[in-house]
Amino acid sequence: MSFLFDTTSDELQLEDSASASEPSFDCAPRSVASNPGSSRRSFFKMTVGGAVAGLVTATGIEFAAPRRVMAQSGLTSDAALQELMDGNRRFSTGNLTSFEHDLAMLKQKTVDKQEPFAAVLSCADSRVPVELLFDQTIGHIFVTRVAGNFAATEIIASLEYGAAVLGTKVILVLGHSNCGAVKATIQAKEVPGQISSLFSYIQPAVDQAGPNLEAATKANAKIQAALLRQSSTVISGLVKENKLKVVAGYYDLGTGVVSLLE
Ligand SMILES: [Zn+2]
Repeated sequence: MSFLFDTTSDELQLEDSASASEPSFDCAPRSVASNPGSSRRSFFKMTVGGAVAGLVTATGIEFAAPRRVMAQSGLTSDAALQELMDGNRRFSTGNLTSFEHDLAMLKQKTVDKQEPFAAVLSCADSRVPVELLFDQTIGHIFVTRVAGNFAATEIIASLEYGAAVLGTKVILVLGHSNCGAVKATIQAKEVPGQISSLFSYIQPAVDQAGPNLEAATKANAKIQAALLRQSSTVISGLVKENKLKVVAGYYDLGTGVVSLLE
């Protein structure tokens, strides 16, 4: 049985309910299963957030019922991507749930194994805290980082491990606004040490999109995602089998919103 995919948000309840064939989880979230009052608080919180109120009415979902939580093995690539985007919506609207998770339980369940549902290739930029901006916690996201979020050999190897061995269902290549690595590549100035070694990976995006920082950053994310799909036989094989999805995204530092580019 796979590691639980826990969240105290009610959004997954809605998505779960639409996929009856998915396996049930092995550990009920304490906040709902053991405390209906907590569930109601969560419901009210979401209603205030305005994210699901309409769906509740439309589907008649019973929020007091114990929630099922998706296990990684039962997730489709689309569902994994949706969970990332839902988490980012919780983050950008100030409705974080990941801190409500029982961290002691998470640690206990992840000491001997990990089954992250998603991988993210992000920039090293300190303003892009990956788990936080997707409202995820321990064991959920396999993160690789390098300034400029490009698919160097070691990054590809790491993401192959994440997909082939750990079973990640989606790889998100995440560029971000005001990226210093892309900016430096555009400027092509003299830089100290080995910093310029980053530039050759990012240059194709600048060649394609021109000197506009946002355009070049978005082009870079898309180029790196395409590279992952094409240059790795492991990743391309899983993509062909519909077991894995590779997408590009763009994180806006000012709004906290991640948008998909493809
Ligand atoms: Zn950056």
